Amino acid sequence: MANDRVFNFSAGPAMLPLEVLQRAGSEITNYNGSGMSVMEMSHRSKTYLKIFEDVMARFRKIGNIPDNYKVLFLQGGATTQFAAVPMNLIAPAGKADYIITGQFSKKAADEAKKYGEISIAYDTADRQHTYIPKQSDLVLDPGAAYVHYCCNNTVYGTEWNYVPDVGGKTLVCDMSSNMYSRPFDVSKYGVIYAGAQKNMAPAGLTIVIVREDLAGNALPFTPVMLDYAAQIKGDSMHNTPPCYNIYILGLVLEWIESLGGLEAIAQRNAKKAAVIYDAIDSSRLFRALAEPEARSRMNVTFRTESDEMDKAFIAFAGEAGLQNVKGYRTVGGMRASIYNAMPMEGAEKLADAIRAFDKNN
Ligand SMILES: *Cc1c(COP(=O)(O)O)cnc(C)c1O
Repeated sequence: MANDRVFNFSAGPAMLPLEVLQRAGSEITNYNGSGMSVMEMSHRSKTYLKIFEDVMARFRKIGNIPDNYKVLFLQGGATTQFAAVPMNLIAPAGKADYIITGQFSKKAADEAKKYGEISIAYDTADRQHTYIPKQSDLVLDPGAAYVHYCCNNTVYGTEWNYVPDVGGKTLVCDMSSNMYSRPFDVSKYGVIYAGAQKNMAPAGLTIVIVREDLAGNALPFTPVMLDYAAQIKGDSMHNTPPCYNIYILGLVLEWIESLGGLEAIAQRNAKKAAVIYDAIDSSRLFRALAEPEARSRMNVTFRTESDEMDKAFIAFAGEAGLQNVKGYRTVGGMRASIYNAMPMEGAEKLADAIRAFDKNN
């Protein structure tokens, strides 16, 4: 770690690998002898198109994306996809199933209600979103066009450890906070989307992976920018794409490759999470919020018995250079986001802080 950097546990925008920032810094005024910054290039220029194609190829290779899926690099955030998904997929059935396991899947369902009949296949609100439903708990409507879920719940710190079986129906996943944190089988999904600012790149880039045959059925009033068919046709360049963020994504992907790809990243992430959960579980004062089998490897939510003590711990961690461990405003307590770019050292330091605070209070 450069010694002026803190361990930043922010839920998003979040840490980027130091190597990526340094490389971007070294190229910021003159990319590869072009005499200009990537920020200043036409997205149609030869130099930029080469960057774009390389990033796309690397993204597909690392994620093992099958040929019948298109990858789109868009703007608007995951929240824009909350509308784009029903606009593109809900016709002609006019209905869809949503599994609610936290704040973002609830928002996705609320947005979708504007475009069709939404039925809630399960809602974990009964226990403050501290768990993930079992396959047998899901109530699926046979007439639904698709089933939507969110596989890592950033606010509550829960993560699905299985892919729901939706009986051959189109499965749609909000993967904003764990995309490329572990291998995943794209062929099980119809659409996967993610705001990039948690695990992949700066805010402003939205990644959509869509099975090609699902595009082309958008509702008639769908804005062209939200129409998957139009974006596929334009190769993500129906208008100006988020050029610089795509370039940074490329650097992050090179970094993932240098560590050994998604299997290696997954092992690293599992170790980081285990170190922190172990410290919480073996303490007197702290407890994890998520049920053990639903614990997220990306967002560790935990608390003590009182708001005052939580506050004291957050201050204590801050003094040790561990920043942004405060929980989401409606949940309280602590949340440590440990996405790909968080080094093992950061997880160990946080575990040390938990043990030290536990001993001294
Ligand atoms: C952050 C987040 C969102 C919202 O993303 P935006 O890009 O800000 O729209 C949606 N879903 C999940 C799971 C998230 O973590």
